[in-house]
Amino acid sequence: MKSKIATAVSQIPLSGIREMWQRAAEYDSYISLGIGEPDFTTPEEISNQALQDALQGATHYTQSQGDPELLKAIQMYLHERLGEVFSPRQIVVTTGGVGGLTSFFRTVLNPGDEVLLPEPHFPPYRHHIEWVGGKPVPIETRFENGFVPTTEALEAAITPHSKVLLLNSPNNPTGAIIPADTLDNLARVIRERDLLVLSDEVYERLLFDGRPHESIWTRPGMKERTVVVHSFSKSFAMTGWRIGYAFGPEWLIESMIKVVSSNTSCAPSISQRAALAALRMDARIVQAMVEEFRVRRDRAYQTLKELPGVRVHKPGGTFYIFPDISQITQDSRQFALDLLKEEQVVVVPGEAFGPSGKGCLRIALTVNQELLKQALESIERFIKKIS
Ligand code: PMP
Repeated sequence: MKSKIATAVSQIPLSGIREMWQRAAEYDSYISLGIGEPDFTTPEEISNQALQDALQGATHYTQSQGDPELLKAIQMYLHERLGEVFSPRQIVVTTGGVGGLTSFFRTVLNPGDEVLLPEPHFPPYRHHIEWVGGKPVPIETRFENGFVPTTEALEAAITPHSKVLLLNSPNNPTGAIIPADTLDNLARVIRERDLLVLSDEVYERLLFDGRPHESIWTRPGMKERTVVVHSFSKSFAMTGWRIGYAFGPEWLIESMIKVVSSNTSCAPSISQRAALAALRMDARIVQAMVEEFRVRRDRAYQTLKELPGVRVHKPGGTFYIFPDISQITQDSRQFALDLLKEEQVVVVPGEAFGPSGKGCLRIALTVNQELLKQALESIERFIKKIS
């Protein structure tokens, strides 16, 4: 019966992340640095408000574009963040950030259209592009460039079929942030080559060292050709609520709303109320979570950079760190499997995110400081043993 599964689905290989989960399940106890979600429970202000609203009847479909009160709150948030007045027709509420990504691809891609995709990247991008007949075209990034895509690499990858450039900053899996001047240069190429941009900014609030968030959206000529995807998952510890939104030019968002309407009718109504509560919540609650990730990042960075054969950048944001262990081994998958076996610590091999991640590991800083300390000691012991 398995042969009845559609080729596009049956061809998806077991992801490097799922493989590590499956292997880890063979052990009674382990520390997982493999999971890409905050370990915090959603702040109770958010859950309480959503519950109240549900009891008051916020349990029906909303309009496809989103709950009008939430759309207004997003408009105000974007005004504060970007200093710009958005029309309500520029915003659509989606089922998670993933809902924004998938509706965008469905909205703009015809079969054969190419999406320029810097890697390493969040693995599902590829599948979503392919499922609508698009073609992902990888753009290599390198440790030496801080895993930031260069304009040279972008120009080399452009063909007459190129339609979209996907950017993800702050980045999963590397924690890299595209610097302001690189955004300027990328924007120039995007304009010259008449590309659309999908800017995945789901980690926009998880930034360290007082760094402001920089978006390609603000660059000249980008507003008429860019869709930005935001999510409540990471900043507010709301992964299970499945709620996010996208904004962009009216001409494009209008069509994305049609796709959302046919796909899910609307984003979950109760989660939309939770998202509204999140935007109204005291920003210091988010800041406290970011500060905790910052402490963990500093600890992980300090430990990893001292280890023999390890090179590592200090991530500017997210809750990931992406050390290069290629001087120890090129086979980071085997390294991750051996680390699990010897020390019961789960990390994800970098190649799970594309060939540029080969020889690297993605470490998610999503356990408390005590567990992180133990896990880092285990990694240190393991590396010293095999070096
Ligand atoms: N984009 C990136 C880069 C991510 O890492 C994730 C989640 N891991 C998402 C989008 C999707 O997040 P969600 O659908 O939970 O908002």
